Amino acid sequence: MSDKKEILQGEFYDVAIIGAGPAGASLARMLDSEKYRILVIDGAEHHEKVCGGLISPDAQYVLAKHDICLPSEILASPQLFSVRTIDLSDGLTRYYRRNYLNVNRERFDNFLKSMIPKSVDTLKARCEAIDRLPDGFSLTLSEGVEIRCKYLVGADGASSIVRRSLFNNQKIHKYTAIQEWYEAKGENPYYSCVFDNDTSEGCSWIFFKDGELVFGGAFDIKNSREAFEAQKEKLIKLGIVPESVFASPKKIEACLVSRPKIGSGIFLGDGTAFLIGEAAGFISPSSFEGISYAMLSAEMLASSMNMADSPEKIIKKYRKNALKLIFKVIVKCVKRPFMYNRFLRRMVMKSGVTAIK
Ligand SMILES: Cc1cc2nc3c(=O)[nH]c(=O)nc-3n(C[C@H](O)[C@H](O)[C@H](O)COP(=O)(O)OP(=O)(O)OC[C@H]3O[C@@H](n4cnc5c(N)ncnc54)[C@H](O)[C@@H]3O)c2cc1C
Repeated sequence: MSDKKEILQGEFYDVAIIGAGPAGASLARMLDSEKYRILVIDGAEHHEKVCGGLISPDAQYVLAKHDICLPSEILASPQLFSVRTIDLSDGLTRYYRRNYLNVNRERFDNFLKSMIPKSVDTLKARCEAIDRLPDGFSLTLSEGVEIRCKYLVGADGASSIVRRSLFNNQKIHKYTAIQEWYEAKGENPYYSCVFDNDTSEGCSWIFFKDGELVFGGAFDIKNSREAFEAQKEKLIKLGIVPESVFASPKKIEACLVSRPKIGSGIFLGDGTAFLIGEAAGFISPSSFEGISYAMLSAEMLASSMNMADSPEKIIKKYRKNALKLIFKVIVKCVKRPFMYNRFLRRMVMKSGVTAIK
């Protein structure tokens, strides 16, 4: 993203989008830049997003709908056709067919950013403070630069400053996600989904990316590190990952990840400030897949802003458009116990329904 600091001091935009992840970059691509003067702000030096980098069938559908083809350099090796589900609590393993695309997340995000039209201004900066004005917002960016805007969009992920500053009463349950990267040492390249009720009410994963093995998981914020280490011990003991692989992590990363629940967590904004993607709470509460939700919520807000001509009409339309996505989150909440409740999961896994024989 370019650095337009000098010309931006005190400038006014119709729309400022904080965050150029899948949500922000998609919105910037789809918003009508003849109707709005648009600025996208993102503070990431490199894309530091902690992520599995798996493009789900739902995300593939959104890409197809927008006629977007991925260049091969975005893909990581290997590509995956099944997920190995491991229940550490009951010692069960099953394989299920899944067609994710395994990608390099930084390159994927950069590719989406490369499709932001030239008519949209982009700025590499962090938004550090937001003040409400009678006719919009004043944003204080890193190094003291200030800009003003009429409409503000929070596409700034799980720790959204827009949500914290303007809608602090709209809480969402969060976990700490921890990932460690190791040299793969010729391990069998499955994508594994790991459940262990003793250490986590979330799930963990093992995947392979271009010669590296990644182990990560979502854990209770209070004791995340201890739970992560306890799971590693179990994986070693059960012979799922050799101790020699876990011995020397090349990279350790952590962030917050949201988990919406039925009736709480999703919030779309109000007045002239809107939220999309994970900032709005759009993420699968069962699998933590969030890229399709980010792109879809961006599409829904873009069509609302492009068609409506007043703040009231925009939010009304966005709420209506987003009902489908909210319903999808509710369905995932209903599905969640079949993955996370030990008894129900054991029943499903033992039955072998939909498993690869
Ligand atoms: C460990 C982990 C693994 C995951 N694996 C997958 C997966 O395999 N597949 C999948 O589909 N989903 C996965 N997800 C979820 C997915 O990563 C997110 O849901 C998705 O990235 C949300 O997109 P977004 O555009 O809303 O936010 P983000 O991708 O988080 O983008 C937010 C952007 O805002 C910028 N930003 C934040 N704050 C500021 C600020 N103050 N000023 C300026 N810029 C700011 C950030 O730099 C960032 O670029 C995973 C999540 C976690 C935590």
